[in-house]
Amino acid sequence: MDTQLALTLVNTVRVVRRTRGRIRDVLRSPDGLRTWLDQVHERWPAFPTDTVPADAATADRLVEVRQALRALFAHAVAPAPPSAPDADELPDVVTALATVNQVLRESEVTPHLIWPANQEPDLHWTVPVELDDRSRAIASLTWAATRFLASPAREQLRACPAPLCVLYFVKEHHRQQWCSASCGNRARVSRYYYGRRESDAIEESAS
Ligand SMILES: [Zn+2]
Repeated sequence: MDTQLALTLVNTVRVVRRTRGRIRDVLRSPDGLRTWLDQVHERWPAFPTDTVPADAATADRLVEVRQALRALFAHAVAPAPPSAPDADELPDVVTALATVNQVLRESEVTPHLIWPANQEPDLHWTVPVELDDRSRAIASLTWAATRFLASPAREQLRACPAPLCVLYFVKEHHRQQWCSASCGNRARVSRYYYGRRESDAIEESAS
């Protein structure tokens, strides 16, 4: 759950394919923000994101946390290249760590160890009930994302190298190169197309 939640937040920066690479920030569009908050609650009912207002205050705070996480994701995949669109605008690692740790400190996230019979131990968490829904949701998302970053799953994190893809993903098997099968197909087509253009150019210059 931590991994998927972390990816869901970090991947709210998208590329619009039909405009050949224009960047769309899901969190900066009121409709996009509402849909995203509802989808998170649908997928993880424990997250109270459906009652979080899709307003400028929510967008500002979520974007701040997301950019800090994108900086840490970029740090995690280095020296491989990060997701490109905002790579030059991200905070440095020290600032990013300070941002996420401040969210956890201010919201008083309290981890507690659980160990159900015949299962692995796990860390769950609580946030104070008097927090408003927005702060609770942002604190919970931040906690999940930082748990992912501190876990061995981080070593499988990759930025998808397919053309016009800006998504981070976690490799599920050894040979996985792309975030999805469609990205793999597009990358192969693009390689074939540009490979031919290069060999055509060589033939033209040779003749
Ligand atoms: Zn991809």
